[in-house]
Amino acid sequence: MKYINEVDIAQKRVFIRCDFNVPMDENQNITDDNRIRQALVTIKYTIDNKAKVILASHLGRPNGKKNPKYSLAPVAKRLSTLLDRKVDFIDDCIGEKVKDKINAMHVSDVLLLENLRFYEGEKKNSVAFAEKLLELFDVYVNDAFGVCHRKHASVYALPEIAHIAVGGFLLKKEIEYFNKVLNAKEKPFVAVIGGAKVSGKLECLKNLINKADKMIIGGAQAFTFLKALGYNVGKSLVENELLTSAGKIMKLAKEKNVKFYLPVDFICSKDISDTLNYVTTTYQEIPDSMMGLDIGPATSELFKEALADAKIIMWNGPMGVFEVDAFAAGTKSIAKAIGQLQAVSVVGGGDTADAVKAAGESENMSYISTGGGASLEILEGKTLPAIAVLEAK
Ligand code: AMP
Repeated sequence: MKYINEVDIAQKRVFIRCDFNVPMDENQNITDDNRIRQALVTIKYTIDNKAKVILASHLGRPNGKKNPKYSLAPVAKRLSTLLDRKVDFIDDCIGEKVKDKINAMHVSDVLLLENLRFYEGEKKNSVAFAEKLLELFDVYVNDAFGVCHRKHASVYALPEIAHIAVGGFLLKKEIEYFNKVLNAKEKPFVAVIGGAKVSGKLECLKNLINKADKMIIGGAQAFTFLKALGYNVGKSLVENELLTSAGKIMKLAKEKNVKFYLPVDFICSKDISDTLNYVTTTYQEIPDSMMGLDIGPATSELFKEALADAKIIMWNGPMGVFEVDAFAAGTKSIAKAIGQLQAVSVVGGGDTADAVKAAGESENMSYISTGGGASLEILEGKTLPAIAVLEAK
Protein backbone atom coordinates (compact mmCIF):
# COMPACT_ATOMS: atom_id res chain seq x y z
CA MET A 1 0.00 0.00 0.00
CA LYS A 2 1.28 3.44 -0.96
CA TYR A 3 1.19 6.52 1.21
CA ILE A 4 0.94 10.20 0.38
CA ASN A 5 4.70 10.79 0.65
CA GLU A 6 5.29 8.28 -2.18
CA VAL A 7 3.37 10.20 -4.87
CA ASP A 8 3.80 13.59 -6.50
CA ILE A 9 1.23 16.03 -5.16
CA ALA A 10 2.74 19.44 -6.01
CA GLN A 11 0.26 21.72 -7.81
CA LYS A 12 -2.32 18.88 -7.71
CA ARG A 13 -5.83 18.87 -6.30
CA VAL A 14 -5.54 16.47 -3.37
CA PHE A 15 -8.74 15.05 -1.88
CA ILE A 16 -8.23 13.89 1.71
CA ARG A 17 -10.98 11.73 3.20
CA CYS A 18 -10.70 12.55 6.91
CA ASP A 19 -12.68 11.36 9.91
CA PHE A 20 -14.02 14.58 11.38
CA ASN A 21 -16.88 12.78 13.09
CA VAL A 22 -16.36 14.69 16.33
CA PRO A 23 -18.76 14.94 19.28
CA MET A 24 -20.66 18.24 19.56
CA ASP A 25 -23.05 19.67 22.15
CA GLU A 26 -26.58 20.89 21.33
CA ASN A 27 -25.16 24.26 20.23
CA GLN A 28 -22.74 22.59 17.82
CA ASN A 29 -19.70 23.33 19.93
CA ILE A 30 -17.05 20.67 19.41
CA THR A 31 -16.53 18.92 22.75
CA ASP A 32 -13.51 16.81 21.75
CA ASP A 33 -11.34 17.75 18.77
CA ASN A 34 -8.91 14.83 18.98
CA ARG A 35 -9.90 13.47 15.56
CA ILE A 36 -9.27 16.88 13.97
CA ARG A 37 -5.88 17.16 15.67
CA GLN A 38 -4.92 13.66 14.51
CA ALA A 39 -5.62 14.67 10.90
CA LEU A 40 -3.27 17.68 11.01
CA VAL A 41 -0.08 15.81 10.05
CA THR A 42 -1.37 14.84 6.62
CA ILE A 43 -3.08 18.19 6.07
CA LYS A 44 0.07 20.17 6.96
CA TYR A 45 2.19 17.92 4.73
CA THR A 46 -0.17 18.55 1.84
CA ILE A 47 -0.12 22.33 2.40
CA ASP A 48 3.68 22.36 2.67
CA ASN A 49 4.02 20.37 -0.54
CA LYS A 50 2.13 23.01 -2.48
CA ALA A 51 -1.00 21.07 -3.29
CA LYS A 52 -4.60 22.28 -3.25
CA VAL A 53 -6.10 20.69 -0.15
CA ILE A 54 -9.68 19.43 -0.42
CA LEU A 55 -10.99 17.87 2.79
CA ALA A 56 -14.05 15.64 3.08
CA SER A 57 -15.70 13.78 5.96
CA HIS A 58 -18.94 12.52 7.40
CA LEU A 59 -20.50 13.71 10.64
CA GLY A 60 -23.19 11.84 12.56
CA ARG A 61 -26.13 10.15 10.90
CA PRO A 62 -28.07 12.61 8.73
CA ASN A 63 -29.62 9.68 6.80
CA GLY A 64 -28.85 10.94 3.31
CA LYS A 65 -30.50 14.35 3.77
CA LYS A 66 -29.11 17.85 4.24
CA ASN A 67 -29.49 18.80 7.88
CA PRO A 68 -27.78 21.85 9.43
CA LYS A 69 -27.46 19.95 12.72
CA TYR A 70 -24.83 17.76 11.08
CA SER A 71 -22.98 20.50 9.20
CA LEU A 72 -19.17 20.37 9.14
CA ALA A 73 -18.97 24.19 9.31
CA PRO A 74 -17.82 24.16 12.98
CA VAL A 75 -15.01 21.77 11.98
CA ALA A 76 -13.75 24.28 9.39
CA LYS A 77 -13.54 26.92 12.13
CA ARG A 78 -11.67 24.62 14.52
CA LEU A 79 -9.31 23.52 11.75
CA SER A 80 -8.58 27.11 10.90
CA THR A 81 -7.59 27.78 14.53
CA LEU A 82 -5.45 24.65 14.75
CA LEU A 83 -3.69 25.29 11.42
CA ASP A 84 -3.47 29.01 12.04
CA ARG A 85 -4.59 29.72 8.47
CA LYS A 86 -7.80 30.24 6.52
CA VAL A 87 -9.88 27.12 5.93
CA ASP A 88 -12.63 27.70 3.39
CA PHE A 89 -15.93 25.86 3.73
CA ILE A 90 -18.54 25.10 1.09
CA ASP A 91 -22.05 23.91 1.91
CA ASP A 92 -22.01 20.98 -0.52
CA CYS A 93 -19.63 18.16 -1.47
CA ILE A 94 -20.42 17.57 -5.17
CA GLY A 95 -21.69 19.55 -8.16
CA GLU A 96 -20.85 22.61 -10.26
CA LYS A 97 -20.66 25.05 -7.35
CA VAL A 98 -18.03 22.88 -5.65
CA LYS A 99 -16.10 22.45 -8.91
CA ASP A 100 -16.05 26.23 -9.46
CA LYS A 101 -14.79 26.77 -5.95
CA ILE A 102 -11.98 24.24 -6.44
CA ASN A 103 -11.05 25.76 -9.82
CA ALA A 104 -10.49 29.07 -8.05
CA MET A 105 -8.14 27.54 -5.43
CA HIS A 106 -4.43 28.35 -5.29
CA VAL A 107 -1.76 25.95 -4.08
CA SER A 108 -1.75 25.45 -0.29
CA ASP A 109 -5.34 26.68 -0.02
CA VAL A 110 -7.53 24.51 2.21
CA LEU A 111 -11.20 23.80 1.50
CA LEU A 112 -13.53 21.66 3.61
CA LEU A 113 -16.54 20.18 1.84
CA GLU A 114 -19.93 19.66 3.52
CA ASN A 115 -20.91 16.33 5.12
CA LEU A 116 -20.64 13.44 2.63
CA ARG A 117 -23.57 11.69 4.32
CA PHE A 118 -25.95 14.45 3.17
CA TYR A 119 -26.13 12.21 0.09
CA GLU A 120 -27.60 8.71 0.29
CA GLY A 121 -24.95 7.52 -2.15
CA GLU A 122 -22.23 7.78 0.48
CA LYS A 123 -23.50 5.01 2.74
CA LYS A 124 -24.87 3.01 -0.21
CA ASN A 125 -21.41 2.91 -1.78
CA SER A 126 -22.93 4.40 -4.95
CA VAL A 127 -20.55 4.46 -7.90
CA ALA A 128 -22.53 7.38 -9.38
CA PHE A 129 -21.86 9.40 -6.20
CA ALA A 130 -18.19 8.37 -6.24
CA GLU A 131 -17.95 9.51 -9.89
CA LYS A 132 -19.21 12.95 -8.86
CA LEU A 133 -16.50 13.15 -6.18
CA LEU A 134 -13.90 11.91 -8.69
CA GLU A 135 -14.46 15.08 -10.77
CA LEU A 136 -13.02 17.17 -7.93
CA PHE A 137 -9.42 15.98 -7.64
CA ASP A 138 -6.22 14.45 -9.03
CA VAL A 139 -4.96 12.49 -6.02
CA TYR A 140 -7.09 10.60 -3.47
CA VAL A 141 -5.91 10.15 0.11
CA ASN A 142 -7.64 8.06 2.76
CA ASP A 143 -6.82 9.23 6.28
CA ALA A 144 -10.12 8.16 7.85
CA PHE A 145 -9.24 5.00 9.76
CA GLY A 146 -12.49 5.20 11.76
CA VAL A 147 -14.57 4.37 8.66
CA CYS A 148 -12.26 1.87 6.98
CA HIS A 149 -14.45 -1.05 8.10
CA ARG A 150 -17.33 0.40 6.07
CA LYS A 151 -17.99 -0.06 2.37
CA HIS A 152 -18.98 3.56 1.87
CA ALA A 153 -18.52 5.45 -1.40
CA SER A 154 -15.83 7.87 -0.23
CA VAL A 155 -13.61 5.11 1.15
CA TYR A 156 -14.52 2.17 -1.11
CA ALA A 157 -16.06 2.96 -4.53
CA LEU A 158 -14.04 6.17 -4.91
CA PRO A 159 -10.48 4.88 -4.39
CA GLU A 160 -11.34 1.96 -6.68
CA ILE A 161 -11.96 4.33 -9.60
CA ALA A 162 -9.39 7.00 -8.69
CA HIS A 163 -6.19 7.06 -10.79
CA ILE A 164 -4.03 7.64 -7.74
CA ALA A 165 -5.29 6.47 -4.34
CA VAL A 166 -3.02 6.36 -1.29
CA GLY A 167 -3.15 6.39 2.50
CA GLY A 168 -2.44 9.34 4.78
CA PHE A 169 -0.09 9.49 7.75
CA LEU A 170 -2.80 8.82 10.34
CA LEU A 171 -3.90 5.70 8.51
CA LYS A 172 -0.26 4.63 8.36
CA LYS A 173 0.17 5.10 12.11
CA GLU A 174 -3.02 3.14 12.89
CA ILE A 175 -1.98 0.23 10.67
CA GLU A 176 1.56 0.20 12.07
CA TYR A 177 0.39 0.06 15.70
CA PHE A 178 -2.18 -2.66 15.10
CA ASN A 179 0.40 -4.68 13.18
CA LYS A 180 2.76 -4.27 16.11
CA VAL A 181 0.10 -5.69 18.42
CA LEU A 182 -1.15 -8.48 16.21
CA ASN A 183 2.32 -9.66 15.22
CA ALA A 184 3.71 -9.09 18.69
CA LYS A 185 7.32 -10.26 18.77
CA GLU A 186 8.14 -8.99 22.22
CA LYS A 187 6.47 -10.95 24.98
CA PRO A 188 4.41 -11.08 27.06
CA PHE A 189 1.61 -9.59 24.97
CA VAL A 190 -1.32 -8.83 27.28
CA ALA A 191 -4.83 -8.25 25.92
CA VAL A 192 -7.14 -6.35 28.27
CA ILE A 193 -10.74 -6.73 27.16
CA GLY A 194 -13.69 -5.13 28.92
CA GLY A 195 -16.95 -3.48 28.02
CA ALA A 196 -20.58 -4.44 28.05
CA LYS A 197 -20.99 -7.62 26.05
CA VAL A 198 -19.15 -10.78 25.10
CA SER A 199 -21.20 -10.85 21.88
CA GLY A 200 -19.60 -7.64 20.60
CA LYS A 201 -16.09 -8.92 21.35
CA LEU A 202 -16.45 -12.65 20.69
CA GLU A 203 -14.54 -12.65 17.38
CA CYS A 204 -11.90 -10.39 18.90
CA LEU A 205 -11.47 -12.75 21.87
CA LYS A 206 -11.22 -15.76 19.54
CA ASN A 207 -8.53 -14.09 17.44
CA LEU A 208 -6.52 -12.68 20.32
CA ILE A 209 -6.42 -15.98 22.16
CA ASN A 210 -4.10 -17.16 19.37
CA LYS A 211 -1.78 -14.24 19.86
CA ALA A 212 -1.83 -13.11 23.47
CA ASP A 213 0.20 -14.53 26.36
CA LYS A 214 -2.25 -13.21 28.92
CA MET A 215 -5.86 -12.19 28.62
CA ILE A 216 -7.46 -9.95 31.22
CA ILE A 217 -11.25 -9.76 31.26
CA GLY A 218 -13.17 -6.93 32.91
CA GLY A 219 -16.47 -5.12 32.44
CA ALA A 220 -19.87 -6.77 32.31
CA GLN A 221 -18.60 -9.53 30.05
CA ALA A 222 -16.75 -11.04 33.00
CA PHE A 223 -20.13 -12.22 34.34
CA THR A 224 -20.85 -14.39 31.32
CA PHE A 225 -17.52 -16.12 31.92
CA LEU A 226 -18.13 -16.47 35.66
CA LYS A 227 -21.62 -17.85 35.08
CA ALA A 228 -20.18 -20.30 32.54
CA LEU A 229 -17.90 -21.49 35.37
CA GLY A 230 -20.97 -22.06 37.53
CA TYR A 231 -20.92 -19.00 39.77
CA ASN A 232 -23.95 -17.02 40.84
CA VAL A 233 -23.62 -13.47 39.47
CA GLY A 234 -26.82 -12.00 40.94
CA LYS A 235 -28.46 -9.43 38.69
CA SER A 236 -25.27 -8.65 36.77
CA LEU A 237 -25.45 -8.42 32.98
CA VAL A 238 -25.12 -11.92 31.51
CA GLU A 239 -25.54 -13.21 27.97
CA ASN A 240 -27.01 -16.62 28.66
CA GLU A 241 -26.90 -17.63 24.99
CA LEU A 242 -23.11 -17.22 25.06
CA LEU A 243 -22.29 -19.40 28.06
CA THR A 244 -21.08 -22.21 25.81
CA SER A 245 -18.92 -19.85 23.74
CA ALA A 246 -17.46 -18.37 26.93
CA GLY A 247 -16.66 -21.88 28.15
CA LYS A 248 -14.96 -22.71 24.83
CA ILE A 249 -12.80 -19.59 25.01
CA MET A 250 -11.60 -20.51 28.50
CA LYS A 251 -10.88 -24.08 27.33
CA LEU A 252 -8.93 -22.74 24.38
CA ALA A 253 -6.96 -20.44 26.67
CA LYS A 254 -5.96 -23.45 28.74
CA GLU A 255 -4.96 -25.48 25.67
CA LYS A 256 -2.88 -22.63 24.31
CA ASN A 257 -1.37 -21.83 27.68
CA VAL A 258 -2.80 -18.32 27.66
CA LYS A 259 -3.09 -17.01 31.21
CA PHE A 260 -6.75 -16.07 31.53
CA TYR A 261 -7.62 -13.55 34.26
CA LEU A 262 -11.15 -12.92 35.56
CA PRO A 263 -12.05 -10.40 38.29
CA VAL A 264 -11.96 -11.73 41.85
CA ASP A 265 -14.10 -9.01 43.45
CA PHE A 266 -16.69 -6.46 42.38
CA ILE A 267 -18.38 -3.21 43.36
CA CYS A 268 -22.05 -4.21 43.41
CA SER A 269 -25.24 -2.19 43.69
CA LYS A 270 -29.00 -2.76 43.18
CA ASP A 271 -28.75 -0.90 39.86
CA ILE A 272 -26.66 1.69 38.03
CA SER A 273 -28.64 4.60 39.49
CA ASP A 274 -28.05 3.51 43.10
CA THR A 275 -24.66 5.08 43.63
CA LEU A 276 -24.86 5.32 47.42
CA ASN A 277 -25.63 1.81 48.64
CA TYR A 278 -22.90 -0.17 46.93
CA VAL A 279 -20.88 -2.98 48.46
CA THR A 280 -17.61 -4.68 47.65
CA THR A 281 -17.85 -8.47 47.40
CA THR A 282 -15.78 -11.40 46.23
CA TYR A 283 -16.89 -13.12 43.02
CA GLN A 284 -18.19 -16.01 45.11
CA GLU A 285 -20.53 -13.77 47.08
CA ILE A 286 -22.35 -11.44 44.68
CA PRO A 287 -25.75 -10.89 46.35
CA ASP A 288 -28.79 -12.18 44.44
CA SER A 289 -30.38 -8.71 44.50
CA MET A 290 -27.34 -6.86 43.18
CA MET A 291 -25.34 -6.39 40.00
CA GLY A 292 -21.58 -6.02 39.59
CA LEU A 293 -20.80 -2.59 38.16
CA ASP A 294 -17.04 -2.31 38.54
CA ILE A 295 -14.07 -4.50 39.36
CA GLY A 296 -13.10 -4.33 43.05
CA PRO A 297 -9.80 -3.27 44.66
CA ALA A 298 -8.39 -6.81 44.91
CA THR A 299 -8.98 -7.28 41.18
CA SER A 300 -7.21 -3.99 40.42
CA GLU A 301 -4.18 -5.28 42.33
CA LEU A 302 -4.35 -8.67 40.62
CA PHE A 303 -4.60 -7.14 37.13
CA LYS A 304 -1.75 -4.72 37.92
CA GLU A 305 0.44 -7.64 38.84
CA ALA A 306 -0.51 -9.53 35.70
CA LEU A 307 0.34 -6.44 33.64
CA ALA A 308 3.63 -5.67 35.38
CA ASP A 309 5.93 -7.59 32.97
CA ALA A 310 3.94 -6.78 29.80
CA LYS A 311 5.90 -5.69 26.75
CA ILE A 312 2.86 -5.11 24.54
CA ILE A 313 -0.64 -4.25 25.75
CA MET A 314 -3.85 -4.00 23.78
CA TRP A 315 -6.75 -2.49 25.76
CA ASN A 316 -10.30 -2.45 24.49
CA GLY A 317 -13.29 -1.89 26.78
CA PRO A 318 -13.72 -0.35 30.25
CA MET A 319 -13.54 -2.43 33.44
CA GLY A 320 -16.87 -1.10 34.76
CA VAL A 321 -19.51 1.56 34.30
CA PHE A 322 -16.81 4.23 34.10
CA GLU A 323 -19.31 6.94 33.12
CA VAL A 324 -20.64 6.91 36.70
CA ASP A 325 -18.16 8.14 39.34
CA ALA A 326 -19.13 5.48 41.89
CA PHE A 327 -18.19 2.71 39.40
CA ALA A 328 -15.19 4.34 37.68
CA ALA A 329 -12.36 3.51 40.08
CA GLY A 330 -11.52 0.11 38.56
CA THR A 331 -11.13 1.45 35.02
CA LYS A 332 -9.12 4.40 36.33
CA SER A 333 -6.73 2.16 38.26
CA ILE A 334 -6.07 0.02 35.19
CA ALA A 335 -5.51 3.16 33.08
CA LYS A 336 -2.99 4.39 35.69
CA ALA A 337 -1.27 1.00 35.85
CA ILE A 338 -0.92 0.73 32.06
CA GLY A 339 0.14 4.38 31.79
CA GLN A 340 3.06 3.80 34.16
CA LEU A 341 4.46 0.74 32.38
CA GLN A 342 7.41 0.72 29.99
CA ALA A 343 5.39 -1.18 27.41
CA VAL A 344 3.87 -0.53 24.00
CA SER A 345 0.28 0.25 24.95
CA VAL A 346 -2.43 0.53 22.31
CA VAL A 347 -5.93 1.66 23.24
CA GLY A 348 -8.86 0.94 20.94
CA GLY A 349 -12.52 1.87 21.14
CA GLY A 350 -14.13 5.26 21.84
CA ASP A 351 -15.23 4.35 25.38
CA THR A 352 -11.79 3.16 26.40
CA ALA A 353 -10.20 6.29 24.92
CA ASP A 354 -12.66 8.42 26.93
CA ALA A 355 -11.88 6.47 30.09
CA VAL A 356 -8.12 6.89 29.57
CA LYS A 357 -8.64 10.61 29.03
CA ALA A 358 -10.78 10.89 32.18
CA ALA A 359 -7.98 9.16 34.13
CA GLY A 360 -5.51 11.76 32.79
CA GLU A 361 -3.42 9.01 31.17
CA SER A 362 -3.80 9.79 27.45
CA GLU A 363 -0.23 11.11 27.16
CA ASN A 364 1.15 7.96 28.77
CA MET A 365 -0.30 5.50 26.25
CA SER A 366 1.81 4.64 23.20
CA TYR A 367 -1.16 4.99 20.89
CA ILE A 368 -4.89 5.70 21.15
CA SER A 369 -6.73 4.60 18.04
CA THR A 370 -9.18 7.00 16.39
CA GLY A 371 -11.38 4.09 15.32
CA GLY A 372 -13.80 2.14 17.51
CA GLY A 373 -15.53 -0.32 15.17
CA ALA A 374 -12.57 -0.31 12.79
CA SER A 375 -10.07 -1.17 15.53
CA LEU A 376 -12.29 -3.98 16.77
CA GLU A 377 -12.51 -5.51 13.27
CA ILE A 378 -8.72 -5.36 12.91
CA LEU A 379 -8.41 -7.15 16.26
CA GLU A 380 -10.86 -9.76 14.96
CA GLY A 381 -8.29 -10.49 12.26
CA LYS A 382 -10.34 -9.03 9.43
CA THR A 383 -8.96 -7.02 6.54
CA LEU A 384 -10.81 -3.72 6.46
CA PRO A 385 -12.46 -3.16 3.05
CA ALA A 386 -11.21 0.42 2.60
CA ILE A 387 -7.66 -0.69 3.36
CA ALA A 388 -7.95 -3.66 1.00
CA VAL A 389 -8.90 -1.28 -1.84
CA LEU A 390 -5.78 0.80 -1.29
CA GLU A 391 -3.61 -2.32 -1.05
CA ALA A 392 -5.00 -3.58 -4.36
CA LYS A 393 -4.17 -0.32 -6.13
P1 AMP B 1 -18.25 -1.67 24.93
O1 AMP B 1 -18.81 -0.67 23.97
O2 AMP B 1 -18.64 -3.06 24.67
O3 AMP B 1 -16.75 -1.48 25.11
O4 AMP B 1 -18.93 -1.34 26.34
C1 AMP B 1 -18.74 -0.14 27.02
C2 AMP B 1 -19.84 -0.01 28.03
O5 AMP B 1 -19.80 -1.10 28.93
C3 AMP B 1 -19.72 1.23 28.88
O6 AMP B 1 -20.78 2.10 28.57
C4 AMP B 1 -19.81 0.73 30.30
O7 AMP B 1 -20.67 1.50 31.12
C5 AMP B 1 -20.38 -0.67 30.13
N1 AMP B 1 -20.04 -1.56 31.24
C6 AMP B 1 -18.81 -1.89 31.67
N2 AMP B 1 -18.89 -2.69 32.74
C7 AMP B 1 -20.19 -2.88 33.03
C8 AMP B 1 -20.91 -3.59 34.04
N3 AMP B 1 -20.26 -4.29 34.98
N4 AMP B 1 -22.25 -3.56 34.00
C9 AMP B 1 -22.89 -2.86 33.06
N5 AMP B 1 -22.28 -2.17 32.08
C10 AMP B 1 -20.93 -2.15 32.06
